[in-house]
Amino acid sequence: MKDKAYNLFEMAQRQFDQVAGLLELDDGVRQLLRQPLREFQFLIPVRMDDGQVKVFNGFRVQHNDARGPAKGGIRFHPHENIDTVRALAMWMTWKCSVVDIPLGGGKGGVICDPHNLSAREQEQICRGWVRQMAKNVGPFQDVPAPDVMSTGQHMLWILDEFETIHGGRYPGFITGKPVGMGGSLGRTEATGFGVIFVLREAMKVLGIDPSKTTASVQGFGNVAQYAIRKYHELGGKVTCVACWNNKDKTSYAFRKKDGIDADQLAGIADSFGDMDKDKARGLGYEVLPGDEWIAQDVDILIPAALENQVTAANAGKIGPRVKIIVEGANGPTTPEADEMIKARKIFLIPDFLANAGGVTCSYFEQVQCNMNYFWEKKEVLEKLDSKMTAAFHAVNQLAQKRKLYMRDAAYVIAIDRVAQAVKSRGWV
Ligand code: NAD
Repeated sequence: MKDKAYNLFEMAQRQFDQVAGLLELDDGVRQLLRQPLREFQFLIPVRMDDGQVKVFNGFRVQHNDARGPAKGGIRFHPHENIDTVRALAMWMTWKCSVVDIPLGGGKGGVICDPHNLSAREQEQICRGWVRQMAKNVGPFQDVPAPDVMSTGQHMLWILDEFETIHGGRYPGFITGKPVGMGGSLGRTEATGFGVIFVLREAMKVLGIDPSKTTASVQGFGNVAQYAIRKYHELGGKVTCVACWNNKDKTSYAFRKKDGIDADQLAGIADSFGDMDKDKARGLGYEVLPGDEWIAQDVDILIPAALENQVTAANAGKIGPRVKIIVEGANGPTTPEADEMIKARKIFLIPDFLANAGGVTCSYFEQVQCNMNYFWEKKEVLEKLDSKMTAAFHAVNQLAQKRKLYMRDAAYVIAIDRVAQAVKSRGWV
């Protein structure tokens, strides 16, 4: 079986159509939710350091804001395109809905590669982006955040330009800001910890003692590192971690059967979460081909690197004892692989539920900014745990009641809430 290349927006619409069928949504609601409410495509002219003007293409898609202001990152990528932004905006709508936070779904982007741009040129792109969008974004309309190749610094430039245009201070307009500049404590840990909060609940439901479990993780970046630390706190043991090696342009899996040491590995990982195989070998790790993370003799798999990693080509190699897969990354499993996982009756916690800790904490950041009062880290993480735990149980209960696969149950809950919102507002 071969996985084909997907147009992400077509894939997002296919998923939606299937759940719309399960929910028996009427035609008006379907038409409204299967495409974005609003889309912006614009040009950002920038005078480059060499004196020439270069014109960049910018995007913002607001898929749906019936439940609250649109929410979603701004990506900087040379291959950015409108269909990817549409799909990601739609998935943000479902993600905010499944964890029941009062936000809708949006996403933005600029076709550019920050690797090849000076700081001044990047700043001009950020300011140019918001000059085009200033009337259609804001704390009560649409709230951006950092995403692929964009950072807290980019967000501060965007915020500064927005505040200059509107003549006031609007810290709730952007999330993912540095702590001390309106950022929330706990945001760095939020996605990885959230992954383990839902895993912990799944183990309770399945009657599994975490301290008797082992896990294999793909990725060693922000999400994976905090997930590993939290899982270790529960008593579990990670025996294998896979990550990218930029020097060799390939991935490797690092295995230690008596358990990896996250702090030790963090000491040899670079700022991208990539790892040098010789250093890992020096610390006593077995170095295996990257794909081997999936074939380990463990109870739990945590794909937390990037999309399209569990495919028809490797899902057959999933270790025989694996009982739970918790998707830390966005879209790590292709539709073909998903069918194979479903057939094996592995308990899957889908990405837009499992990794919603990040956006939930961004929502907390917005709340704190709007009231200009900041919580202690403990308070942030406790609130995060309650939200993730409640969302997990709502999805799991529906899955049990209607005998649905967890991914389908999560979509049913998320889409139903948005459908109710557009109906209650009288839009359809
Ligand atoms: P990151 O850039 O910090 O880390 C990515 C990790 O993946 C690195 O360790 C890298 O070496 C590894 N990797 C890259 N290519 C690989 C390959 N081919 N094989 C094996 N490993 C590979 O990213 P992150 O912030 O940890 O995000 C990881 C995933 O989680 C992404 O899909 C992201 O969209 C998703 N996500 C992140 C957040 C967040 O708050 N950071 C929130 C929601 C979803």
